[in-house]
Amino acid sequence: MLNTISCVSHNELSATHIKAVKVEYYQVPLAEVLSDAKHGDHTCFELLVCRIYCQDGTEGVGYTYTGGKGGRAIYSLLDDELKPMLIGRDASDIHAIWEDLGWHLHYVGRGGLVSFAISAVDIALWDIRCKRLNLPLWKLAGAASNKTRCYAGGIDLNFSEQKLLKNIDSYLDRGFNAVKIKVGKDNYKEDVARVAAVRELIGKQTTFMVDANYSMTVEKAIRFGRAIEQYDITWFEEPTIPDDYEGYGRIADSINIALAMGENLHTIHEFTYAIRQAKLGFLQPDASNIGGITGWLKVAELAYAHNLPVCSHGMHELHVSLMSSQPHAGYLEVHSFPIDVYTTRPIVIADGLAIASDEPGTGVTFDEKLLRPHLIKQS
Ligand SMILES: [Mg+2]
Repeated sequence: MLNTISCVSHNELSATHIKAVKVEYYQVPLAEVLSDAKHGDHTCFELLVCRIYCQDGTEGVGYTYTGGKGGRAIYSLLDDELKPMLIGRDASDIHAIWEDLGWHLHYVGRGGLVSFAISAVDIALWDIRCKRLNLPLWKLAGAASNKTRCYAGGIDLNFSEQKLLKNIDSYLDRGFNAVKIKVGKDNYKEDVARVAAVRELIGKQTTFMVDANYSMTVEKAIRFGRAIEQYDITWFEEPTIPDDYEGYGRIADSINIALAMGENLHTIHEFTYAIRQAKLGFLQPDASNIGGITGWLKVAELAYAHNLPVCSHGMHELHVSLMSSQPHAGYLEVHSFPIDVYTTRPIVIADGLAIASDEPGTGVTFDEKLLRPHLIKQS
């Protein structure tokens, strides 16, 4: 049932004003346990869906996700804190709403869970905007193209080497020509051996990245980075803690592999400092935690101004449209959390490229039948 709270009388509201907001919280189990160096075992992902309804019945659907923790707090932020601020607002005032929501909770939540909650709202507002203009997101966000380079991002640190290679094989079978594996074993020599084995399997032509999930010291990252330079690694992602921009700079100066990060930078200002100090080769904003599409596009602009490729992290069913829209797109991550499988249009890959949806809207429509069994609560 919709909540039809209205703080302005009905005849003062235009078609684009928000009349109701509905929030849904899901825990979606993964087919198998997936592990990385810092977050440990993932057994499920959480999905927070924010549905915004305008006076004329237009519905916008936004969402954010987590690796299995914090979802209930994001639900509360959306339902208790942000929903009352949205009712009666003009849904087309996307930037004004983005600023207002951010400052409303800035003191207690800058860059934390609040960034996830605002992202879900912002994506819903962009969905409404695209639907009203009858345009797909890739057209409205930049329209550089409707397709983008992509890679399969494994969460596979717990896999034996044999299973790791089998998994990489399955990516190649699906049509990927770029792959990423997790690193961050206690003994880095084990990581080096896994990198060597994967490179041998995929041959020289396949693009190959590694991701340490900020598990290494600066010194260990330099030692490991030097040991894998010979395997033609396109980027070394999150070698050390995301806050140590100067440490990233020291790693970048010491190895011949480009560095990448972004999934743990949740404000535009963090990206600004990272660009200045961390000597990154690739930026990886995630629209689910950088303030939605508005935040992601701001980072894309920063990247362009600094002659850096913009990439993405997670939620590939949405990022495929954003990445396609940008002239300086690097690689779309096709993440191991299969959110797209719970939509009406799982990711489409042709000739190694991911193809954006042409449907008006963000191109992400959840399949109610598939998601419903995983619903925990809703407003
Ligand atoms: Mg990562």
